[in-house]
Order: sequence, then C-alpha cells, then structure tokens
Amino acid sequence: MFLAERFKKAGKLNSFLFSKSNFRYMADVIFVDKLEKLERAIRSFDLSAFKIDKLPIKLHMGEAGNKYYVNPKIVKIIVDEFKRIGASPFLFDTISKYEGPRATKSGYKVVAFKHGFTKQNVGCDVIIGDEGKEVEIKGYKFEIANEIYNAPCFVVVSHAKGHSDAGFGGAIKNLGMGCVSRKTKGFIHCAGQPRIMKERCTLCGTCEAACIFDAIKVNEEWKIDYSKCFGCGRCIAACPNKALKPITENLRKMLAYAAKACVKGKKVLYINVLLNITKFCDCMPNPLPIICRDIGILVSGDPVSIDNASIDLIEKYSGRKLKEIEGVDPREQVIGGEEVKLGRASYELIKI
Ligand code: SF4
Ligand code: SF4
Repeated sequence: MFLAERFKKAGKLNSFLFSKSNFRYMADVIFVDKLEKLERAIRSFDLSAFKIDKLPIKLHMGEAGNKYYVNPKIVKIIVDEFKRIGASPFLFDTISKYEGPRATKSGYKVVAFKHGFTKQNVGCDVIIGDEGKEVEIKGYKFEIANEIYNAPCFVVVSHAKGHSDAGFGGAIKNLGMGCVSRKTKGFIHCAGQPRIMKERCTLCGTCEAACIFDAIKVNEEWKIDYSKCFGCGRCIAACPNKALKPITENLRKMLAYAAKACVKGKKVLYINVLLNITKFCDCMPNPLPIICRDIGILVSGDPVSIDNASIDLIEKYSGRKLKEIEGVDPREQVIGGEEVKLGRASYELIKI
C-alpha cells in the first residue's frame, strides 16, 4: 500500500503536514536509502497546495571550491516532481554575508552555473535574492527574502552536514540563515557574540583556546576582535566561570527563531540529503573530512523533526556525538524550534 493511502486511512500524514493543530502528533519523517525511492517519498505527501506559479525550491548551491553540495541530479528529480503536479518551480538562494564569490547575486549565479545548476541540467531557473520584508518572532525582527516572503508555500532542500557555528546544517539552518537578507544574517551572527562579565573572569585563557576563529586574546586583560567572531558561542560554553554571555541570544536558537519567521503561515516540504556528510558546511571552500558514511534522504513536513532525525542518524552511523565533533550543540536548534512551535522534536522514522 502506498504511504499516501496508508496515512489517508490513518488520517495522519496529510493532516500533519498542513494542520495547525498538528502539535499533538509525532511528525512523520520518511527515510529512503536509494535515490530511486525519492519520488515515492515526495508523493507520500499531499502536495496539492504546491501547484503554484513561482514555487521556490530553497537550496544552497555550494561555495566555490566546495564539491559536497546537493548534486544537481538529485535536484532535478525534485524539480520534476513539482512540475509533474503543475507547479512552476525555481531554485532559490540568498547571497552570503561574508565576502566572496557568492556575496553578490551575479557572483552567486556564476558559482551556481559552474556547479551544474543550469536550466538545462535541473529544468528550472535559478534566482538569487537578498532584501525582503520583516517578520517578528520573540521580539526579534528578521528580514525574509521577498521570494520566500511572497510565496504561500515552498520546498527546502538541505545538505545534512556538520557546521562550525550551528553544530549541524539542515532544514532549520537552511531557513534561518539561508532565507534571510544579508542584514539579518549579520544580526543573527552578532546576537551570539560573547560579552564579558569582568568580575567573573580569572583570565584563565580557556575561551581563547576554544575559539577556532582566533577572535579572543587573553593576557593582562580579556580582548575580542568582533570582526573575526561568528557568534558560535564555543567560548561561552567553554568558560569554566560563566563569565561570558551572548550579546543577545544563542546563535542556534536564533536560527530556529528566524526559521519560524520564514515559514509563518506557509506550507513547506523539507528534504534533507544525508550524503557526503562533511564536518563543515557548504559555505566553506574546504569543508574538511567526511565524518559519516552516506545514509540516504529524509522527507518531512516538519523542519524540527527532520533535523532531529538527521542528527540522530548521523550520530548512530558515525558512532560520535555531533556536539563533540563540532564543539557546539546542534540540538539547541531543535530546542529553539520547539520553543517557538516551529515543529516537534519527536518523530516517527518511516523507511520505504
Ligand atoms: S563566539 Fe565563537 S567565534 Fe566568537 S569569539 Fe566565541 S568562539 Fe570565537
Ligand atoms: S574562559 Fe572565562 S574566565 Fe577564562 S579567560 Fe575566558 S572569559 Fe575569562
């Protein structure tokens, strides 16, 4: 029996994806270990609402020099599925906060082209955005790129991997950092930067050793170069005297809040690709080693569940905690996501 039929009978999967009262359910996360099953996994969901002109498929198309972004062949399967139901999809991403080839729309398009994201290869246009409209969550204002803000529904395709600041890069990160303006990307990073409570600091130097970006120097006094700081919070977690606090809020929680701002009032389908699972993210020219064997692809209507399931699977197959590998706790994204009802951490993994 097809999943759609099974869940229609159970009255569960299709209602979960779009129901406002869905928080009483565990989310369904479909797991396929072979690419040939991806179409079937997508078809398990009621996609009737996605039959629109200008359907964004949010995707990070990889930093120049990085080879571990989601393969265009996988993206084409997804694009074709939405064309099949009568939608007109386009691939979408926003420009980077940091300087580099993807810091401008034209520069990003060149990188996307070189990585194989052409109309000929994937069957749709590539659009790069930046500025947009503000949405407020928990008193924070996030500027959501117009292409996402104006869409009643969209699809989020994420390469699941480690991340130096977020601990894990999946659906929440792809929304919270990937669908917002350059201005908001800067705001989120700054929010997590440390501030010192001098009366507690013993000048032990633990935070300096913890910072992989060389932003802190501890000699006769504690000093930070904020231009080098990405707000990851490693130093805050490492301080034995609790002398450091984020300026505004933990970066991983901020990502979840921003993600909520992106999806508020919208219908969204999430696809996490657990292949070529690297230590660092697709933003890096060199993402460093593969930390886990290939696992498969997950599909869900819940960004918190799909990320929690992805982290569980990576930790199961690598035999290591991502928090230990990355130095920051990726589950803080999940906690932040539950806090603002972005989704649920509990899920049922359904292998097909
Ligand atoms: S927040 Fe991260 S990047 Fe910034 S100083 Fe602390 S460890 Fe370094
Ligand atoms: S780890 Fe804490 S106590 Fe030690 S130098 Fe850094 S801020 Fe001060």
